[in-house]
Amino acid sequence: MARYEVVIIGGGPAGLTAGLYTSRAGLKSLLVERGMFGGQIVNARLVENYPGFPEGISGFELGSLMHQQATKYGLETVTAEVTGLALGQPYQIFTTERSFEAEVIIIAAGSEYRKLGVPGEEVLLGHGVSYCATCDGFFFRGREVAVVGGGDVAITDALELAQHASKVYVIHRRGQLRAGQVLQQRAFAHPKIEFIWNTVVEEIMGEQLVKALRLRNVKTRQLSTLEVAGVFVSVGLKPNSQPFADIVELSETGHIVTDELMATSVPGVFAAGDIRGKSARQIASAVGDGATAALSAFSYL
Ligand code: NAP
Repeated sequence: MARYEVVIIGGGPAGLTAGLYTSRAGLKSLLVERGMFGGQIVNARLVENYPGFPEGISGFELGSLMHQQATKYGLETVTAEVTGLALGQPYQIFTTERSFEAEVIIIAAGSEYRKLGVPGEEVLLGHGVSYCATCDGFFFRGREVAVVGGGDVAITDALELAQHASKVYVIHRRGQLRAGQVLQQRAFAHPKIEFIWNTVVEEIMGEQLVKALRLRNVKTRQLSTLEVAGVFVSVGLKPNSQPFADIVELSETGHIVTDELMATSVPGVFAAGDIRGKSARQIASAVGDGATAALSAFSYL
């Protein structure tokens, strides 16, 4: 079994930064990523709040640059999904491809879009169901669409979609938004955005393409149908912590609990980025977490 000083799980900004630091410090390091290097940011059309790029940069390009910089110092990478860990010295990391051994593990597996879990959501994905307004909003030029959710992302999505769509319905399960005041004010003032309060989506309807939503008002229990060509599900993110649930302590929300040095409840296992509790969920903060975790790993070894 191939053995490393450090195995990093996840190739988003946190994992790639951790890998840059550990490999540059001369530690034999491997990064395991199941999808694309760069993680969630590869979907961002323009990143305007990451320092060093005053004109902004596409998330895809930023991810590629981070990958290039990390591997330049000898970080090895493998495409595989981590299925579990075994404690011991060394630790064992099981993946869909091979297993690895490591003295230190840095978990930076991020988070993924939370689903509604209603009929139609899975089969119509890419046919009117989307989790990324920035990626897919353009396809709905002049059409009516819906956004589900009431957080910062839902309202940001609604405002962005209103640039293309003829009408944007925001469907929220409560009577009050979770999003910040500035976003709320902008959305309330927007002529194309209409709110549907205290309502959940029970079904996404359509054969080849999304045609309508079956809605239920949670107060009156009344059912209704809303015709839309697209539905953007923006109900938050779920940490990818399942494979580690039996190993490290998780919070109530499923995030990995760490201290300020990124140490988890298990010595030699660190966590960084969106997967840990109290993360600011920004690229800049994920990068900071990755650097801190790598320095902690170095001290530990
Ligand atoms: P979020 O803040 O957790 O909001 C999720 C929204 O989805 C909430 O309104 C929630 O309703 C709703 N929801 C959750 N599960 C649902 C379900 N099964 N059915 C229907 N609705 C459901 O998530 P987010 O908006 O993705 O934001 C993630 C983090 O990034 C947050 O910390 C956010 O502040 C941050 N962020 C900040 C900015 C910014 O501009 N400052 C921009 C983007 C993201 P309830 O309100 O009823 O719980």
